[in-house]
Amino acid sequence: MKPIALILLGPPGSGKGTVAKSLSAHFAIPHVSTGDILRENVKAGTELGKEVKAVMDAGKLVSDQLVNRVVEDRLARPDCAKGVILDGYPRTIEQAKVLDGVLAKAALETVILYITVDYEVIVRRLGARRSCPVCGAVYNLISKAPKKAGVCDVEGAELITRNDDKEDVIRKRLVAYDEQTQPLVDFYRARVKRFREVVGGETTTPEENAASAIRAVEQE
Ligand SMILES: [Zn+2]
Repeated sequence: MKPIALILLGPPGSGKGTVAKSLSAHFAIPHVSTGDILRENVKAGTELGKEVKAVMDAGKLVSDQLVNRVVEDRLARPDCAKGVILDGYPRTIEQAKVLDGVLAKAALETVILYITVDYEVIVRRLGARRSCPVCGAVYNLISKAPKKAGVCDVEGAELITRNDDKEDVIRKRLVAYDEQTQPLVDFYRARVKRFREVVGGETTTPEENAASAIRAVEQE
């Protein structure tokens, strides 16, 4: 397979993280998440990291321009020569246009993997999460229920529904995701030959999702 830059798009709760891990293992290419590389740079105290830290310390959002430079720097490392999986980037059409130039320079072919899942399924799935306020363990009433209903397996504390897992909050996040990402999806759909879509359903397991994703990406 030619070296690819595999760009993952999919809403929160679509199982994107699991799919990214499987793809990374299958194709033996690194999984690059923007959040991780920003943190790595800060931790390692690189020149870019110092700039990022200054912005964050001031309580500001890291600008498109700075994120673009951090990603470009990461893609220039030797482990990306055979390809890369990008997750969480690009987020905007402006970033996508910059990335186009970077990928062309790196001779990586763009492949889009758009994971879609019916929003009602996501709401049910994320809405079934329960957390332990004491040890932080996360359960799911559908897929990973605690041994005894309502309490943590570890120390028996009463489980709670975090604010982020409440239905109205999940729905708001999905609407926000759509508003931000749909233009990007349309942008790529119109111009990338290898635009692949994987549809996850109510009963699709993460493994099945990952297997479909691998098949979709392997299509020429
Ligand atoms: Zn606990």
